Order: sequence, then C-alpha cells, then structure tokens
Amino acid sequence: MNASEIFGQLGLDLNALENGDLPVFSPIDGAEIATATMTQSDSVAEIVANSKSAFRNWRSVPAPKRGELIRLFGNKLREHKSALGALVTLECGKILQEGLGEVQEMIDICDFAVGLSRQLYGLVIASEREGHRITETWQPIGPVGIISAFNFPVAVWAWNTAIAVVCGNSVVWKPSEKTPITALACQKLFLEAASELDYIPEHLSQVIIGSTEVGELLVNDSRVPVISATGSCAMGRKVGPMVAQRFGRTILELGGNNAIIVAPSADLDMAIRAILFGAVGTAGQRCTSTRRLFVHEDIYEQLVPALKKSYQGIAIGNPLEQSTLVGPLIGEQSYLAMQQALEKASSEGGIISGGQRVLTDSHPNAFYVEPAIVEMPPAERSVQEETFAPILYIYKYSDLETAIELQNNVPQGLSSAIFTNDLREAALFTSECGSDCGLANVNIGTSGAEIGGAFGGEKETGGGRESGSDAWKGYMRRSTSTLNYSSELPLAQGIEFNF
Ligand code: NAD
Repeated sequence: MNASEIFGQLGLDLNALENGDLPVFSPIDGAEIATATMTQSDSVAEIVANSKSAFRNWRSVPAPKRGELIRLFGNKLREHKSALGALVTLECGKILQEGLGEVQEMIDICDFAVGLSRQLYGLVIASEREGHRITETWQPIGPVGIISAFNFPVAVWAWNTAIAVVCGNSVVWKPSEKTPITALACQKLFLEAASELDYIPEHLSQVIIGSTEVGELLVNDSRVPVISATGSCAMGRKVGPMVAQRFGRTILELGGNNAIIVAPSADLDMAIRAILFGAVGTAGQRCTSTRRLFVHEDIYEQLVPALKKSYQGIAIGNPLEQSTLVGPLIGEQSYLAMQQALEKASSEGGIISGGQRVLTDSHPNAFYVEPAIVEMPPAERSVQEETFAPILYIYKYSDLETAIELQNNVPQGLSSAIFTNDLREAALFTSECGSDCGLANVNIGTSGAEIGGAFGGEKETGGGRESGSDAWKGYMRRSTSTLNYSSELPLAQGIEFNF
C-alpha cells in the first residue's frame, strides 16, 4: 500500500493533505508524504473555548451513554485497523506488526473504557456524627489537553481520550509535529462514531496541529485543568512547571532508561527473546525499550554471545514488509544522537558491536541502523541518559542487591524486569527494596505493556499513570460530601459552639 492508498482507505481529504504548510516525511525513505495544515496560534484560545462549552454539555450525559460513543469508536477502529496500522508505520516507521498492535491497543482501551463507564465508583465513608453520611464521588473535571510523542502516535491519545471522555470530559489533542496525519485520521474516525449518536456535543474532541508554540498555548491555558503530556524528560521539565504555575494538574509520561536483570536461574532462551524484542523493537524508540542489561557473572559467557548471535539474524529494512523486524529511526537527529552515545560509551571503555548506518544505497534519505550492543566495564553508575535508538548497554554483576541498586540509580523510573526462577529473587525485585520503577516485571521484558494495568513511571519519568487500573481518577475531580439527615447540627471533633 502506498501513501495515497492508505489515505484513501481512511477517507482522508487528499486535497487538504496537498496544500498544507507542515511537510510530513516518512522515515521509511525520507520522502514527503503529505502536508498538514498548522493550527494558527491565535485560534488556540477559541478551540479551548469550544472545548469548554462541549464539556459543559457532556458532563451531564450519563456515563454509560458516554461509553456508548467509545464503543462505536472502538468499532470504527476495528473496521479500519489495517489502514490505520499501515499509516502508523508509514508516518513513524515502526514495523507493520507494531503499527497494527498499536491500533489493537486503542481498541482494547476503548473496551476497557466502555466497561469503566458503568463503574466510576465512589465511596461511602463512616461519619463520626450521628445521622450523617460522608460520600466521595468522582466528577468530570473539564477539558483535558493531550500532548503526544511521535513514537506512539495513536495509542497514547486513545489511552487518554477513551478514559477522559467516559469520565465526562472534552479533549484537545496536540500530536507530535512529526506525526500529524495519524492524528487527523483518528479524529476523523472519532467524528464518524460521534455522528451516529444524536447527543454528542460539537467539539468534544479537537486536534491542534503544530509544535512547541501551539503546545505551550494549550499548556498555559487555565481553562484546561488537566494536561496529559507524553514525551521526553526535557519536554516534561518545561511543561510541568508551566502547568503547576497556574495550579493545573499534569499527567506526565516521560522518558525511560529501562533495564533487565538476568539471574543465574533464568530461562535464557526466554530472556534472549525478551531482550531482543525490548532492545531492538521499534528500533529502540519505545519509552519502555530495554536500554540496560545486568547479567550475572555465572551466565554472562553463555548469554552474551548467544544474544549477539541473535542480533545478527535481525532483518532490518522497510517496515511495511512482513519479514522486517527493525525499521528506520525517525530521522537524522536520532541517528546523530545514537552515534554520539556510542562514541561516549567507547571513550568510557565500552566494547561496541553493531551501530552502523545501513541501507544507504537503497534509502539514502532514511536512517536505518544496526542495533548496537555495548559491553560496559564495571562502573559505579550505569548509563544515565535515554538515547532514543537501539543501544543496549550490558553490565556484569555478581550480587543481586548491587544489580538492583545500579538499575535504580538513574534519573528515570519507567520499566524494569528480572529473569529468574528463584522465588526469593523475584519477590525481592518486586518488593519495597526492589525496582523503583512504575513497571517491575518478572520473566517478561520491559516493553509491551497491556492496557489493564496503570502505566507510567517514577522520578524523571514524571509520576503520571495512564490506561488501566484506577488511572481514570486522574481525569476527574474528587468531591467529598457530608450529608446530615438528622435534625441536630453537631460539630466534628465534639466542638461546642453555643450561641
Ligand atoms: P518530544 O519531547 O520531543 O515531544 C513530545 C511532544 O511534546 C510533541 O508533541 C512536542 O511537540 C511536544 N512539546 C515539546 N515541547 C513542548 C512544550 N514546551 N510545550 C508543549 N508541547 C511541547 O518527544 P518525542 O521525540 O516526540 O518522543 C520521544 C520521547 O517520548 C522519549 O523520551 C520517550 O521515552 C518519550 N515517551 C514516553 C512515553 C511514556 O509513556 N512514558 C511514551 C512515549 C514516548
């Protein structure tokens, strides 16, 4: 399928995609596939005003009826899964299987949100006063601003939108400027679902196309009480304080520096497959990509050569082709950052295999690389930065406590895993003395989370949680009400106030 066939299958307006002012390039071959139209800065305020008025209508629609919209939207995604998955691949370069997987994740979160729409439970709390009852209810909060990264161009929006909408909110989405077409396609499917019902307010979901400038207008708008922002730690470091300055709420989903520990009792075959998917999947451009590996000294000489051998069998190439396992980097900047990180590792004594640019003859304007493995010398601290490319740093360890300490001793805290068949090691790793990450897995890799659990990480990863479990509470305001059904007016704490 080429770009115009994919656009056609999704019903996108081909004319509009030829006359915009934001060129969109496919990382597959570096070719311009479309132009999107940037949102003018001076229209952001009106977009937010429209979102606010949509919210005022939507908040009173019963939650199960809100869920009905998300059910229909999920069905639209099912119908268009193959075209939308291909568009994800075309625009951000992940392999088709992962593009399709991303759309499946959207479908899954829609199913979750539909169920949730009948389960926005609150609490009844015992009052210390006779004839009184305390209730805690969850109320819609207002427009939710969503900022998303290039590497999950559709799923992150769906995680936020499906949940925010059943919680009674309107949404305004600013996708990555590198992936605006997938955003326009999602918005179109959402509007098609909305048109099947007669109670959906206009402007319930809106999209702002552009980069930092329009993003900051959304972030600084005090009519948007929640900003859910996914991207680099550098972005979070700017966005977080801006929202805090106006006492808004953030859900920050930022960079990771994820590690796997492989213990002596591990099933090495399973571990190698998990490491491979985690480290080279999406060409190392997942927030949960495996970036560091701690291997016990007793199995190091067994695991590392076997891992290197499996790296040699990786098919690198056009991500639209079924046989490809590793597609391109998003662009030249990522390639340069990868080379810089490898040079630094080498200067610190790291021994590098892989990492070269490949396919330059067939794809001179794209950036395909051999995933790199770097065997690092013993160090007091492991690599501290996230380089958004397929580099796996390997360290040898001799005792688990030290490995856990090294794993934790980085600024980020997103995902982590241990491969072990030793119950004590597994329990320690998932205990209060274990991994300090938001995700701590046993015998499964760092990437590829399901939607049922709350997703997110600690420290510079931002502390936000999205997706399943009770992450929905981040999109609502909590209201505590004390109801007096007696004919007395007793004060709490037994205070007497006679007049
Ligand atoms: P990025 O930080 O460059 O951009 C992310 C988004 O933030 C884009 O839409 C961008 O336009 C916007 N943005 C940047 N500065 C802004 C500002 N000052 N105000 C408002 N908006 C602003 O990230 P990227 O290169 O697109 O994505 C890669 C990064 O995202 C990696 O660090 C990765 O780990 C992270 N990521 C995290 C998660 C997670 O769930 N934790 C998921 C996906 C990606």
